[in-house]
Amino acid sequence: MTAHAPGPEYQPAGTREGLENVRTLVNAALDILRETSASRSGPVAPGGPNGTRAAARRALAGPLLPLRGEKVEEVLETLVRPYAEGAVDITHPAALARMQPPPVASAAAAELVASVLNQSLHAWESGPFALELDRWMIEQMAELVGYEPTEAGGTLTPGGSLSNLMAMTMARDTVMARRTGRSPGREGLFAIGMQPVALCPEGVHFSIERAARLLGMGEDNIMTVPVDDTGRMIPREAERLLRECPEGRIPVVLVAVAGSTDLGIVDPLPELADIARRYGVWLHADAAYGAGALFSPRLRPMLDGLSEADSVTVDLHKFGWSPASSAVLLVREAGAMSSFGLQATTCLSADDDTCAGYIGLQNTSLQTTRRADALKIAVTLRTLGRETMAAMVDTCHGLARHAAARIEAHPRMELGARPPLTAVLFRYLPENGLDPDAFNGALRRRLMETGRALVARTHIARPDGSTRVFLKLMMLNPDTTPAQLDSVLEEVAATAAAMEASASGS
Ligand SMILES: *Cc1c(COP(=O)(O)O)cnc(C)c1O
Repeated sequence: MTAHAPGPEYQPAGTREGLENVRTLVNAALDILRETSASRSGPVAPGGPNGTRAAARRALAGPLLPLRGEKVEEVLETLVRPYAEGAVDITHPAALARMQPPPVASAAAAELVASVLNQSLHAWESGPFALELDRWMIEQMAELVGYEPTEAGGTLTPGGSLSNLMAMTMARDTVMARRTGRSPGREGLFAIGMQPVALCPEGVHFSIERAARLLGMGEDNIMTVPVDDTGRMIPREAERLLRECPEGRIPVVLVAVAGSTDLGIVDPLPELADIARRYGVWLHADAAYGAGALFSPRLRPMLDGLSEADSVTVDLHKFGWSPASSAVLLVREAGAMSSFGLQATTCLSADDDTCAGYIGLQNTSLQTTRRADALKIAVTLRTLGRETMAAMVDTCHGLARHAAARIEAHPRMELGARPPLTAVLFRYLPENGLDPDAFNGALRRRLMETGRALVARTHIARPDGSTRVFLKLMMLNPDTTPAQLDSVLEEVAATAAAMEASASGS
């Protein structure tokens, strides 16, 4: 081997020979996945964090970058096999914790193509067709939320958290510019000397709070809008906060939740849109999860008024059956995306390239190199079609209602609220003076440790301001049957009863 040539370990994916290598390796990797899935007994391997740590210590014993590369078959064995063994099986009916739908097979194939071709969206010469696909996808998604596609804009993002950050950025810049004629992005907030503030309901996703921190608005400048007893923002209260906003503070954004992460609550969008318009505030709708309702003619009316928001966050890696990252931020008027356009000032050639149509998308994104997520999303949606998507959403909603009914009928379980979407909150009510909060926290950990069920945990606020621990089931697997769900609930109840018995015995 000379110093000028790479060793035989270097096998590029995209050459004619490379494609054959990929085919062979994909088959080998799929064999491993088939074997590991056959040996599973639950949604996650038993043993909890200590078990996983020990398995990882064994599997990851060698260095990341050995002097000599290893045979690819060996690497698949040493890394892919334990990875798969230690993975959460999101196709398992008891994998109910997180918003991770089992993605469709066609999307996995499209992901492979995206990796082999490795296009990027920042410049025309980094992915010409990928750019067109990305633009088309934004237009189509804009239409789906009810925007006028010729005026709307947006971008694919790595997830709802970043979509929310971008929306908050546009709100800050657009409203501050309108109210003061100044540019926060260029001058900075200190020079402008006005404090932007955000209005959000209680229980807004934490990425909104983080965005306020990152944007120099400060978390303390989020005004919390009270919610009614169904958990929805009270428009009258939002209006009062806007009306009473002191001099020197500029309300830039009203964040409405269109499908809250825990309860699936949708804020009253038409009323909030009307208030936002009257007060010159940007309305952002966080539909990261709730946008799934758009695919169901039955549930879609929940989202009436969505198209009146200035921006909308949509995650297709939640309700959408496309693997992460599959996320979209949509903006009613594309011009607001100028918040992200750092124009090159030293490169005079930028403009004539643009005039000639050589346009990349780095000016509408927080990313420079950006993978072509649109491919797998488009393949997923085309493969499923509207009818099947509707059936999938409705099936998951039906599973949630089924679980809620079972929980309500269970003498020792308490239902958090009827599920408007696919999340079901509940808790086990232990006897013998055991503290329900501590008990349910421990119950969830016990289920994870035995590897028999994965459920999430959250809390529900009481009118007196105190909170209660609740467990959460998230239905995003339309393959799960009601009978399987019943078994999961029985498992949860049996585990709880055993814990209760051993706590009383000791
Ligand atoms: C999941 C979620 C987010 C965050 O989205 P990621 O894609 O996980 O970053 C934001 N808002 C709501 C309402 C969500 O449910």
